[in-house]
Formats: sequence, structure tokens, C-alpha cells
Amino acid sequence: MRKLKVLCLVLLISILTVSCTQVENGYDAQGFAMGTVITQHIFSANAEKITGKVLDKIKQLEKIMTINAPGSEVDFLNASAGNGKWVKLDPEIIYVMKKALDFGARSNGAFDITVGPLVKAWGIFTDHPKIPSPAALVQLKKLINYKDLSIDESTSSARLRLKGQIVDLGGIAKGYAGDVAKEIYLKNGVTSAYISLGGNIVALGSKPDGTPWNVGIQNPRLPNGKYLAVIPVQNKSVVTSGDYERFFMKNNIRYHHILDTKTGYPSDSGLISTSIISDLSIDGDALSTSTFVLGLEKGMALIESLPGVEAIFITKDKKIYVTSGLKDIITFTDDGKEFTYVEKR
Ligand code: ADP
Ligand code: MG
Repeated sequence: MRKLKVLCLVLLISILTVSCTQVENGYDAQGFAMGTVITQHIFSANAEKITGKVLDKIKQLEKIMTINAPGSEVDFLNASAGNGKWVKLDPEIIYVMKKALDFGARSNGAFDITVGPLVKAWGIFTDHPKIPSPAALVQLKKLINYKDLSIDESTSSARLRLKGQIVDLGGIAKGYAGDVAKEIYLKNGVTSAYISLGGNIVALGSKPDGTPWNVGIQNPRLPNGKYLAVIPVQNKSVVTSGDYERFFMKNNIRYHHILDTKTGYPSDSGLISTSIISDLSIDGDALSTSTFVLGLEKGMALIESLPGVEAIFITKDKKIYVTSGLKDIITFTDDGKEFTYVEKR
């Protein structure tokens, strides 16, 4: 009996020590979902359990939303395209698609989740990406129009107007997943955490010492982890779209994964990286892709129309443009002084 008591005490102490360390030093968790590495750093008791819950939830979202593995709910929607029938979908998909349609309209179609046929034709998520023929692109472009996606919230269902149309949530799903992760942290009493979904960051609260989280902005022409700038954030999402994330080179041309639905080709707006700082990560994700396609002037105009949203745009000719809300807090870490900073707004 005594032995048992001692054992319990030892166990209790070790549990307490583990959770104290997790509260003081933070707990790191790494996983893989939505085609990318997910890193979490949280300051909380039960950190292992909470980060596990978050990763499981993201995997579940991937399962229902992906078009890169068969059998998702979005696949059912796509398979029914053009047959007139409404397809019942998880309310989370309906929410994400509604948001996507909203940003489709705000960006005048630069952001268009019916981009799927083009994504498939370019083979962006396969091991053998290829350049489609101009004739094929002309045909496929006829299928791209976010207005052809109808949503009926009251029945949680949707349908696509034309056969062959494909919804691809790749430009927005990770943002939504970041918001959901934050909700799970809050529900479990976590007040200080960050999650990175392949570079899409959601920072909850501040660091435990009260100072902001520092988020690095990737140098688009150097290996992963080499930053051009650092911004301090609290309770914000920082999402970046870049032409360096997924691409192939042919005849010295970079073919990347953000497509201009007007041309059918990878976007060539002059921007090579767009970062959006916003409250909701789903907004940041849609906006980073939207502004990447819109280019500097139209992209800035869109950001200006949205209160509480800030942006960092990097152009092909190596200039960095930031919105006024960032100019006093951003630190440039471009050692090579290769990029020049231009204030905007
Ligand atoms: P990442 O996934 O690298 O974070 P983005 O958020 O910019 O980058 O999303 C790019 C993905 O979005 C592409 O892989 C594709 O699935 C999809 N996509 C490509 N072009 C567009 C577009 N014009 N509008 C909406 N989604 C797009
Ligand atoms: Mg995006």
C-alpha cells in the first residue's frame, strides 16, 4: 500500500513537472497534413493532448476538403457538376466556400476556387507537372467561374453549373484550418500559442512574457527559413503566398502553383510573394492568393478597402511594399541588401 502511495506521488510529481515545463518552456509538436508540415508551439498544461487534437482536426478537414485523394466531400460535389443535383456537404465546407465566393467577388475573380480544371491540367500536385497546350487552356478556361458555384446554406448543400467544373479549396483551406486550431486552443484554456501550416501562421495571444510573437517573412529567393523581414504580432494571422512554394522550371521559366484564371497560366503580375496580416486566417489565405494574382496596384487597393488588414508585397524586381500599419514595427533582415523597401499607403 505504502509502495503504491509513493508510486502515485512520484507519478503525480512527474506529471506536474511535465506540465509545468510545458507551461513555462512551451511544447513543440510537428505533424504533416494538408500537404504540408504543421508546427505547433503552445504554452499550456496538457499540451500534448491539445496539439494532438488540433492535428487530428486538421487531418479531418483535409479528408473532407481535398481533391488530391479520392473520396472527399468536395470530390462528390465535383463529380456531380452539371447534373443539376444539390450535393449535401459538411457545414464547414459550406462556410469555407461561402468565404471563397465572397473573396472571388471582392477580387473580381482573381481568386476563384473553380480553378480546379486548370490545377489538374498543370499537374500541380503530381510528380509530373506539365505545360498544357494553349488550345487545351482555351477550353479549360470556359469552366472557370466562381459564379457557377451555387450554395444553399439552409440545406447545407451546393452544386456546380457545368460538367467538368472542379472546386479546389487549396488556396483557402489552410487558412480555415488555422482559425479552427485557434478555436481549439481557446476552448482548452490556452492563451499563448502559435501554429504554422507550411508557413501560414496563426499566433494566439502573446508570448508568456507578454512580448509579441515574431513572425519571419521568407526571402522568396533563398532557402526556407531565410527571412527578409520580421514583424511582431499578437493575436493575428500571417499568411504568405509565394511563387517559390510549389513550382517547376522549364527553359528557365518558373511555372508555379498560383494561376491567373484569365490567362490559364501561372500568375505573372509582377508579385512574387504576398503576406497578409489579419484577424482571421481564412481571410488572410484568400487575400494572399487574390493579391498575388491582382498585382501591386490592384492588390494594394483591395487591402486598403479592408479595415484591420495589413500586407507585405514583394515584387519581381526585388522591392518590398508594406502598408502603413506595418511601417513602424517591421524590421528588415535582408543582410545582402538585395531588396529595397518602399512605403505604401
Ligand atoms: P499555398 O497553398 O502555397 O499556401 P496559396 O494559398 O496561394 O498557396 O494557394 C495556392 C493554391 O490555391 C494552389 O495550389 C491551387 O490549389 C489554388 N489556386 C491556384 N490559383 C488560384 C486562384 N487564382 N484562385 C484560387 N485558388 C487558386
Ligand atoms: Mg491562399
